[in-house]
Amino acid sequence: MLVYIHVPFCRTRCNYCAFHSVPLGRGVDAAASPQVRDYVDTLLMELALHADTLGGANIQSVFFGGGTPSLLPPRIVGVILDRLGRHFHLGDKTEITLEANPESLRGRNVVPDLLSAGVNRLSIGIQSLDEAMLRTLGRPHKAQDSLQAVFAAREAGCANISMDLMWGLPGQSVRQWLQTLKDAVRMSPDHISTYGLTLEPGTQMELECEEGRLVLPPERDQNIMFMEGAAYLEAQGYLHYEISNFARMGFQCRHNLGYWDGLDYLGLGPSATSTIAGRRWTNPASQRAWDNMVRTGALGKSPEVLTPTVRVLELIMLRLRTANGLRLKSYRELTGRDFLRDNQRLIQALHENGLIRIRNGYLRLTRSGMLVSNAIIANLFERTEAVLNREGLAAGDGNAVAPAPEGEAAQPTIKMDLGKGAGNKAASPEIRPVVWPTA
Ligand code: SF4
Repeated sequence: MLVYIHVPFCRTRCNYCAFHSVPLGRGVDAAASPQVRDYVDTLLMELALHADTLGGANIQSVFFGGGTPSLLPPRIVGVILDRLGRHFHLGDKTEITLEANPESLRGRNVVPDLLSAGVNRLSIGIQSLDEAMLRTLGRPHKAQDSLQAVFAAREAGCANISMDLMWGLPGQSVRQWLQTLKDAVRMSPDHISTYGLTLEPGTQMELECEEGRLVLPPERDQNIMFMEGAAYLEAQGYLHYEISNFARMGFQCRHNLGYWDGLDYLGLGPSATSTIAGRRWTNPASQRAWDNMVRTGALGKSPEVLTPTVRVLELIMLRLRTANGLRLKSYRELTGRDFLRDNQRLIQALHENGLIRIRNGYLRLTRSGMLVSNAIIANLFERTEAVLNREGLAAGDGNAVAPAPEGEAAQPTIKMDLGKGAGNKAASPEIRPVVWPTA
């Protein structure tokens, strides 16, 4: 099982951000904030609540995400991990990631204390190494903070460092993006996530773009950023193992891999989602509502039951994000059907356009295919759903989904969260436009 812990606090709100986060303010000491203290109390209660039913489970990875988890004092991170270890099995090999903003790793003892608390992987939100871009994004740090953060992490003995970078930023050129990647590689991270900027509704950045004060790079340039950026990182020894993720050999994020492999995950904290044994629930985003639900023991009591069709669609969506791709046998096991036959004309069109490869029983997207992954997956969803609704599932092993207990509504919802690096970009310099077959 995977554990995700959502820490909703940030210093300030970045201009592009639509995540659930609570700005604490620049000068506020998180350790002394009553809101943070209440959050930790409720989190430990929520953990104990789940331990009643899931206690003793083997934990493959723990991921502190946010928000800005590095605002939590390392001592508190230690308390949370200690409590997790009491209820669940955390082994020597459990990957424990903490997302950090560069400026929050500044103190001399912060990284050593985080490592002592049990964190063994830092994911640093660098986003850009260009001061002007950082200002446009509204990030609370400077490029120098990022260099110092990575240096401090290495000095302290952190053996697994990831960095987040963003491309497709207002005013950014292809040359600037490639320079950012070069500067980043010079810092020798073990893992790099590269996200294309998505303009989220209601954000400051969306407003500024609408008003013409900021201008996104042309789509053609964005496509080149994705393609050339990926090629550059691969040439530097980073495996392109998922649409937005690159890693040195052996440093793929185990938490992400588990998620894409469909392992169960327990989400703790406001707005966190859990999926356990075919049932899914999402905590309320508001801290107060989440706190109420934890105190009344109501969390996870009305889960969405994942139907076989939803599970099949998720398998397609998650597996096609990865470099390995979709194992055709897994589709057959879940549905009793043949994926290639079910999507024959579409598969043929994708193949002819160089967007997919089929080899050794796996169907995977090529790099050009990753660029239009949203459109490809949306098409596959539509067709697969239609086929399964029309013809039903045959006797696949995966049909053994527990029936919904009486009174539980089985209303499947699939989120098309395909990563920011893969928008619906039909026209690109490297690929021909796809003519989607109609049947
Ligand atoms: S630090 Fe991350 S979560 Fe917080 S406001 Fe910025 S982008 Fe959003």
